[in-house]
Amino acid sequence: MKYERVRNFINGSFKEVSSQRTLPIISPSDGSILAEMPCSTAADVNDAVQAAKAAFPGWSKTPIKERVQVFFRYKYLLEQHLQELSALVSEENGKTMTEAIAEVDKCIELTEFATSLPQLITGEVLEVSAGVECRTSHIPLGVVASIVPFNFPAMVPNWTIPNAIALGNCMIMKPSDKVPLSLAVLARLLKEAGLPDGVLNIVNGDSEVVDAICDHPDIEAVSFVGSTKVAKIVYQRATQHLKRCLALGGAKNHLLVLPDAKPGMTAQNVAASMSGCAGQRCMAASAMIGVGQIDHIVDLVCEEVKKIVPGQNLGAVISKESKERIEKYITEAEAQGARILVDGRGVKVSGKENGTYVGPTVIDYVTADMAVAKEEIFGPVISIMRTNTVDEALRIENANPYGNAASVFTQNGGMARYIAERANAGMIGVNVGVPVPREPFSFGGWNESKFGVGDITGKSSIEFWTKLKKSTTKWNPEEGVNWMS
Ligand code: NAD
Repeated sequence: MKYERVRNFINGSFKEVSSQRTLPIISPSDGSILAEMPCSTAADVNDAVQAAKAAFPGWSKTPIKERVQVFFRYKYLLEQHLQELSALVSEENGKTMTEAIAEVDKCIELTEFATSLPQLITGEVLEVSAGVECRTSHIPLGVVASIVPFNFPAMVPNWTIPNAIALGNCMIMKPSDKVPLSLAVLARLLKEAGLPDGVLNIVNGDSEVVDAICDHPDIEAVSFVGSTKVAKIVYQRATQHLKRCLALGGAKNHLLVLPDAKPGMTAQNVAASMSGCAGQRCMAASAMIGVGQIDHIVDLVCEEVKKIVPGQNLGAVISKESKERIEKYITEAEAQGARILVDGRGVKVSGKENGTYVGPTVIDYVTADMAVAKEEIFGPVISIMRTNTVDEALRIENANPYGNAASVFTQNGGMARYIAERANAGMIGVNVGVPVPREPFSFGGWNESKFGVGDITGKSSIEFWTKLKKSTTKWNPEEGVNWMS
């Protein structure tokens, strides 16, 4: 095995996990076993919580101006270790090195935002009546938890670590059981940046760890990013234990393409959106709805997609099960009468025959009732549906239970606005294939793509990671004056 057995990170040190139950960490690119990950238990979660609890009084009392100094140094260290960290992200996740570098760049940007938090949480103050002042301040919650998925081993942890910790909380982080290696590097860099012991703790494992987090009486808030199925489980379990919870789920993102869309630009965006990170992005385009005559754009989409080559500019999907699931969707759609314009099934990459690659796939004449049109596929597959009117296209988009993102491609500003206002999704793109809002704007979908209030990044995250204290102060030299009683 290339790497040593995965360890938890508790109170500033890497610790062996006693559990005998283990999972293999498999390289999606070549099928080799990279490491063995022991599955932690509720007792391990409790050790992490005790460390975080002990660290909280000191960390929360450290002024935020000092707390963010750690993140200035962490940002610098991420830049210094960009190549090493990107290589590990690529290795454990299967994405290309270019995509992994973009992921680490995003970690740097997220950290940069956290360093600006002192400017954003100054609170409000107002003289509400003569000599009486009300002020608000953002107070950290205490011990909080963050549970993350496999598709961004470094970026999604950095959606929560910098903001939650800079705001004064101490954190228990639960990595994906498929990609736990990058997070250990992040922990090492944070320690080097001066983060005090116990402020960040990592507990590796599977659902047993997640259940223990949701149940632990000393964890105040839980953030989750992953599939809708598990987001619902986590949201229900954490809130049942009266915790604050924000749970981001899966997605089915639609691109509405109008006949006046710029053909080349649209085709490039569609191809990049459906195939980036092998389609394993919650912001990936999964369905394209062509309104009216858009054959010329479909032809260009196919041309662009054929430039995407597995093992070169297309990474592997995470596992054998994922590859089989994705290929099954394609086969079912074909059997139901859809046309496969570009077929990514049965791909083998020379020299990496055990890698789990799926080639980019374009399926045309998909109808709204097919599984491939309705369900999250999480692979490099785009399903094309066709409608005669914009309202028909919107009906299809609106009917989908998810609501992460939707985009429109057109040169008509009025039409773009009409669609943007009516699309039932939290993140909207106009001539943008992957409409991720950059900081300070916040990331979060609607409907079954997110449970809970607010968003996970940007300014909105401040409300999730803090509670508001409202102080009313009467301080006046004139005695006997009856102010407010
Ligand atoms: P997943 O839901 O299988 O796993 C997410 C986390 O939950 C992991 O840490 C995993 O160990 C844990 N887990 C898995 N099954 C569990 C169970 N039964 N009980 C408790 N915990 C469990 O998701 P994944 O396969 O790692 O990631 C892919 C999914 O994440 C996709 O659906 C994708 O759309 C979604 N995602 C969403 C966003 C977003 O912002 N909305 C971002 C990234 C990924």
